[in-house]
Amino acid sequence: MSRRISILGATGSIGQNTIDLIARYPDAYNVVALTGASNIAQLASDAKRLRADVAVTADEDRLEDLRDALQGSGIEAAAGPAAVNEAASRPADWVMSAIVGAAGLAPGMCALEQGATLALANKETLVCAGSLILETAKRHDARLLPVDSEHSAVFQALVGEEMSAVERIVITASGGAFRDWPLEQLATATLAEASAHPNWDMGQRITIDSASMFNKALELIETREYFGVEPSQIEVLVHPESMIHAMVGFRDGALMAHVGPPDMRHAIGYALHWPVRRTLPVERLDLAAIGQLTFRAPDEVRWPALRLAREVMERGGLSGAIFNAAKETALDGFIGGRLGFTKMAEIVQEVLETTDPSHIDAAMTLDNVLHVDHIAREATRSLIEQKTG
Ligand code: NAD
Ligand code: MG
Repeated sequence: MSRRISILGATGSIGQNTIDLIARYPDAYNVVALTGASNIAQLASDAKRLRADVAVTADEDRLEDLRDALQGSGIEAAAGPAAVNEAASRPADWVMSAIVGAAGLAPGMCALEQGATLALANKETLVCAGSLILETAKRHDARLLPVDSEHSAVFQALVGEEMSAVERIVITASGGAFRDWPLEQLATATLAEASAHPNWDMGQRITIDSASMFNKALELIETREYFGVEPSQIEVLVHPESMIHAMVGFRDGALMAHVGPPDMRHAIGYALHWPVRRTLPVERLDLAAIGQLTFRAPDEVRWPALRLAREVMERGGLSGAIFNAAKETALDGFIGGRLGFTKMAEIVQEVLETTDPSHIDAAMTLDNVLHVDHIAREATRSLIEQKTG
């Protein structure tokens, strides 16, 4: 019987890589739902090609465009955030969570509640609501598989191991676009400069987050939530070549590294076929040709986001949701030309410091997470307003 699959965020970088893998075996998969946002042409063409049951755009105003694009195909069209949740709730065996930002949280919860295996590329889900997500998965007997390359690498290095034998987890970072820039130039970095990643081809938001290391900051929190280790057990290592994605250090001194090309189809494919390994269309590394791999300690002056992530992990509660919402809003400010590159971390820090502690200490329910997300976005917008007038 073919596996029922849904892809949330199908039109993005992760979504398209997922489609690349499943489209190779059309008989193996039965596509239930594909969701997207503004790229209606891509969404409709993939829905037709994969013969999905339903295609959903998160943008309420684009329903007619989607209907037009799907005309005659027999594929159902829907629009708006509630329709994305409804699509994620449709019975499926495997659901890819590849929406960008906290917008991926509620649909991911819906997929877990119907008992699907959730392949989690959307790291914001665990950053905002780690314990809630893990409990929801447990309650519904649903499985959560990591797709972020570092977390997939750790997950693979842990196969057959006891967590009690783990001393530390090392996640690597390329260092992004500004790894080698003089510090004093960072404040003047432009959008185009921040949007060019040296190794990975990803969506624009995560690419800029790589340059600021907000991406790695989110991944530190994601590591803590997914693997249940203490913050002091997680290290970031700058590794410009992006070949080693993560390492797990065990109590006998062994360090198990996961080495592979910077191609997300590996981590997606591992989650798609787990627990078995299937042949994947990724480059085989020729280490002799590569010659050497290099490493450096991360610099918290260059990348203050790393320090902020440590503060968030110590604070706990809903501070992850506040951190992420402030980060997303500051990033909007940078993309919109209102905020300088280094101002993003300053503003996020200020939001963290000025948020009423009662919000951080509220119970972790989906409603509370969405509420603090809203409050933090408002607070960030008003700070940006104040500073840029
Ligand atoms: P992207 O910007 O390329 O794609 C985002 C997808 O989300 C698109 O399908 C878009 O239509 C949809 N979307 C955007 N806003 C939405 C909203 N408000 N509601 C519903 N859908 C919305 O992003 P990406 O690079 O594919 O990243 C997706 C997620 O995967 C992010 O959480 C990112 O951090 C994570 N991730 C990406 C990579 C990568 O290589 N691109 C690697 C690791 C983790
Ligand atoms: Mg990653």
